[in-house]
Amino acid sequence: MDIASLQIWSPSAVPKGKRLSPCLSRQRRQSTIICGIRARDSPPQASVEGNVGVDDVDIKDFPWPSPSDQVPFWKSKLPSWGVSFDVPDDAGKDPLPLHVIHVTAEMAPIAKVGGLGDVVTGLARACLSRGHKVEIMLPFYQCINRQLIVGLELTTEYNSFHDGIWVPMNAYRGAVSGIPVILIEPSNKFFTGTSIYGGSYDEVEAYLLFSRACLEWMQVKGVQPDIIHVHEWQTSALCLLYWDMYHYLSLQKPRIILTIHNMEHYGECGQEQLSKCGLDGSIYATVEKAVDDRTIGHNPERLSLLKGGIVYSNAVVTVSPTYLNETLCSGWLADTLMKNRDKYFGILNGIDTEMWNPATDACLPVRFNAQKLQGKKLCKCYVQKGLGLDLEGEGHSDMHSLLNETQRVPLVICISRLVAQKGLHLIRQAIKHVEELGGQMVVLGKAPDSRVEKEFNDLADVYNQGHQIRILLLYSEELSHLLYAAADMVLVPSLYEPCGLAQMIGMRYGAIPVVRKTGGLADTVFDIEDESKRDVANGFVFEGIDEGSLNWALDRAFTHYRERPEEWAKMVKKVTEIDNSWNRTAGNYIEVYNSIRVQ
Ligand code: ADP
Repeated sequence: MDIASLQIWSPSAVPKGKRLSPCLSRQRRQSTIICGIRARDSPPQASVEGNVGVDDVDIKDFPWPSPSDQVPFWKSKLPSWGVSFDVPDDAGKDPLPLHVIHVTAEMAPIAKVGGLGDVVTGLARACLSRGHKVEIMLPFYQCINRQLIVGLELTTEYNSFHDGIWVPMNAYRGAVSGIPVILIEPSNKFFTGTSIYGGSYDEVEAYLLFSRACLEWMQVKGVQPDIIHVHEWQTSALCLLYWDMYHYLSLQKPRIILTIHNMEHYGECGQEQLSKCGLDGSIYATVEKAVDDRTIGHNPERLSLLKGGIVYSNAVVTVSPTYLNETLCSGWLADTLMKNRDKYFGILNGIDTEMWNPATDACLPVRFNAQKLQGKKLCKCYVQKGLGLDLEGEGHSDMHSLLNETQRVPLVICISRLVAQKGLHLIRQAIKHVEELGGQMVVLGKAPDSRVEKEFNDLADVYNQGHQIRILLLYSEELSHLLYAAADMVLVPSLYEPCGLAQMIGMRYGAIPVVRKTGGLADTVFDIEDESKRDVANGFVFEGIDEGSLNWALDRAFTHYRERPEEWAKMVKKVTEIDNSWNRTAGNYIEVYNSIRVQ
């Protein structure tokens, strides 16, 4: 087995708070000087590439983490996200360059809560690399880490209207992962606090102000992009403001596209709330415009900003073809979507393959790719040690035998917001069943609902005592990278899933997906026993929402892993090579942009 040429952490990347033996420090320093290549895409102190074989590293001196480390192992490095600050230049250029401005509540990695942040960044980078001009406008949340923004400067001071007064606003410019960003900071208390959502201010009103402030900024600056790309309910009011206000003022050229990432959030809004941004809320309270159909007959009837966005945008996209069909058939917005069917498209999300790249990922102790997957085994051992999970081959005296021992204990991960949509009862059942099957499982998730948090905390109190299961109720980008790299299987048991990124990211890192057949999961994962999908088969799929269905998929995956290791290894290589990148799918967005732009 070839285990040479793995990229190992340099001494500068050794976890802070962990003392290296002088002998290892010297050995590492030497290898750094010999290699002398600094990772192109890492901050100077974070990581150095080197062609050091795992065999060359003494198993005892490898900086293994431990649960008793003062600083948890995933926090012990500066994040560099493994992302080049230059936009990749590997895609062909499109003939008709567009100017696109995204107006969004999230952007990875500076303001990410879920997939929305990943999608905005990934799509923007893909379009930039195809020769388009792309900018992202987002609120300047107080919790944003300013150090992650390159060249941050205050560029414009202006006013935007809210609740009867003109509110002073600051617009900052900078770059994040090579993408120009414009951060809008109101002078009132909106967007303050320690998290992206859930601050102690009225969220609907905050995003109404933000939506208007973005158009106001364009007007003040005389900026007229070809496309304004809004996302979710938070920025849907921009469509109404544009066509009923700013288009009559000075903005003529832009056309608007709305991407719906999750139909669950309608953006419920009182008529008087909408009026605060300067529109007359009452005129939108009709079935044809923005009345929230669920509130018809109630007093008062309310509005749905998302519905308004659908009606008032030039094109609507949702994030997978299967979810498009599902949303046309059921849900409160089905009628509205049906009426707007000719401008409604299903485009599968991609993943940012620079940000999610096991070959360059600065969060990993060892990097790997589809051709050299040995590093993945070391990542698994690293995570097992760090979390205090049982480690096979514990008694081995050298790295080679540690990594080449048959690994009979599969590691399953589930990285997810802990909300009903994600199949909470199935996640709980998976924890139980994986333990019964003698496997290991790590759940990394945050529960916005305190009852759910308590429930999982109680589970953690029980299971985290042992050496098979870890339930970690926190948000950590770095730990998520490590877990994807370590995992044998990535579980996504969602009740519904518009697209889902975890299964695609997991595959890129060699984790076999075990998923429920719904939405984008049905578009990206195909069961290995499905004869009609043999060429694209890449995982284990179940349909029911009952525990038996989940158990059946896990049983099959475990049997396959244990009894057919060679086939499993082939499947790992296959999924690692699947192209789920934005390069593959961004062209579909560009087609839609071109179909609505003003020539
Ligand atoms: P959603 O947008 O519904 O949350 P997606 O699958 O589209 O689901 O995207 C989820 C993204 O958020 C993935 O990048 C996943 O790795 C990440 N994520 C979810 N929970 C956590 C967490 N607790 N810590 C780190 N990353 C997380």
